Amino acid sequence: MSDVSRLAALFAEARRPVVFTGAGVSTESGIPDFRSPGGVWARFDPAEFTYQNFVGSAEGRRRYWALGRATYPVIRAATPNAAHRALAELHRLGRLDCCITQNIDNLHQRAGLPSASVIELHGNATRARCLECGAPCTRDELHARLERGVDVPDCPACGGIVKPHTILFGEAMPKEAVEEASRRAGAADLFVVLGSSLAVYPAAYMPIHAKRAGATLAIVNLEPTRADAQADLVIRAGASPVMAAVADAMRARIPQRG
Ligand SMILES: [Zn+2]
Repeated sequence: MSDVSRLAALFAEARRPVVFTGAGVSTESGIPDFRSPGGVWARFDPAEFTYQNFVGSAEGRRRYWALGRATYPVIRAATPNAAHRALAELHRLGRLDCCITQNIDNLHQRAGLPSASVIELHGNATRARCLECGAPCTRDELHARLERGVDVPDCPACGGIVKPHTILFGEAMPKEAVEEASRRAGAADLFVVLGSSLAVYPAAYMPIHAKRAGATLAIVNLEPTRADAQADLVIRAGASPVMAAVADAMRARIPQRG
């Protein structure tokens, strides 16, 4: 049996499969890993784009939005790839409990995975809200204002600071999302990592937490990860071809299950 067939069999047999997706899944949709060498941080200094600088001064926000104006169109123009589509299909087939993601591009939801089944550890770049009055707005609305020449789009209702839902450097992870992810990872009987090198917390901790709680651990990533030694199955490949094949295999199985 090939490794991909083994992964498909694991998805078919699991009662609570949980998937964890990282930057590798976004790069397969053409969204560059902004933190990689040669990425946007080659032109912008990440030390400037902290939560403290954003809330601390209008100048910090002006710099942030100059960067956001350059990066958001790339995210907006990207479309879901075969991995995103496969996960949405597995969920429809009752073969996916939830997707925990480090990605902020909203592509899991755009592929058809219900928002309630996507746990976003780093937030979501398509939404924003006012830190003073809580009024929500879309990033599309903010981007239109930036394009019209507004360099710091404040809240139209109260003049407060509007902050993207994305978690900034130096900002605490969203407590509820991290707790929910830990809970679902701990309850999983299959935990599959897609396109993450598991280099940062809490990503590094999730698969180990799931494994210790009894889950079978599978890792699909182009590069070695720090959890490979604990994994039951490691596939050194991109997420899209592997998950497309898994979805094909699952479709083929359905009639047999009657
Ligand atoms: Zn407001």
